[in-house]
Amino acid sequence: MTGPLQHFTREVDGSLARYHLRVERDGSGILLANASQALRLSETGVLIARALLEGASRGRISRDVALRFSGVDRSRASRDVDEVAAAIEALARPSARAALTSLDDPDATVHRRALSAPLAAELVSPGLGRGEEIIQKLWDVGIPQVRFVLPDGAVPGHLPRLIELAEDLGMITGVRARASDLPSDAAVRAMAMAGLDHLDLLWAGVDKKLHADLFGDRDLERANALIALAHELELFVVAVVPLLASILDDLDDLGEALRGQRIGAMVAYAIADEVGEGRVLAALELPQVATTLEEEAEHFGENLVWAAPEERDDSVSLVDQVKRGPRAAGEACIRIEADGRVIAPTGPADAAGNLLTDPWEKIWANAAFEHWRESVDDPERCAACPEISLCAGGCPKDRTTWATPARTGGAE
Ligand code: SF4
Repeated sequence: MTGPLQHFTREVDGSLARYHLRVERDGSGILLANASQALRLSETGVLIARALLEGASRGRISRDVALRFSGVDRSRASRDVDEVAAAIEALARPSARAALTSLDDPDATVHRRALSAPLAAELVSPGLGRGEEIIQKLWDVGIPQVRFVLPDGAVPGHLPRLIELAEDLGMITGVRARASDLPSDAAVRAMAMAGLDHLDLLWAGVDKKLHADLFGDRDLERANALIALAHELELFVVAVVPLLASILDDLDDLGEALRGQRIGAMVAYAIADEVGEGRVLAALELPQVATTLEEEAEHFGENLVWAAPEERDDSVSLVDQVKRGPRAAGEACIRIEADGRVIAPTGPADAAGNLLTDPWEKIWANAAFEHWRESVDDPERCAACPEISLCAGGCPKDRTTWATPARTGGAE
């Protein structure tokens, strides 16, 4: 094994499940299934999980564990092996091939404890040479998922090559775009041939007029065609849903609308400011919006990722800000600009370093990553909205959990 990541595949309930096992510096580990479900493992758990995924027999693993860890007898080791084996199967079941990663779920055991790197990266589509270098570095530091974010209207011809490279390393790959910016079915087919796992489309189709206002008159038609194509190509579809004041009336219909399109996951990003001026949401509205989304997602079996709310940026029009999409899909995800600059998922959009020129240790030591880097207990939450779980990562009405414009200018 080189680097902290290992990639495994195995069949679960007739479908191919992909697992990534990342060993942290203290010997503990994180096991990800389909880049969507995460399980925190002790040092013993890492040993057991790796052996199980490599196909060793349970009896042999129990023997090895009992020999290696003093104080663990065979029967205890055997119980531990059974438990990890059951967890490995269960992890892959609920949303196979959902290609999202979030630490928001309080039932997940990772939270924000001493991670050595994030779990996913959004990469603003780079040139071929830089892209190859960035992808290799992401894998080397232990990031198993990359989502290519396409700049307006441009689908680089080398994108399938970058997807192929990432897949060959063992990464899960996605592409995020406005449907109109993917006008060619052939280009999407080429990406699928290269191994693409998921297609993330900016989507407000629960309100057709709003979708047209934000993304263009014909965009929803193109989105529908792409969703059908993605199903044909067995790509997992993710709806990237902007949250504005005008969508609130339709939130109760969102889950059903997504299910109608066979879309199994959504990334929700609010555009907000403190007071909710014009069409943007007010900070105080966000807990209720998040609660409604969680209820919808749970009821319809959707995988929900709450992206950090984007603070309204007055330097661009609202429509242009919405079209940019979220900075990153969830708190366990970073953004990498095409030139290698690394931006944390929350806080000002200032670069924490450059993946192409700075050692990862230096980037990760930046104050922007303190919450993820340090070993901390579960963040405190209040009891105001008992139904909500995503505030385990911080209260959505608190501006410190938002993505805010750069202080130094120019990152977004
Ligand atoms: S921290 Fe409190 S107010 Fe904020 S979302 Fe959670 S329960 Fe609601």
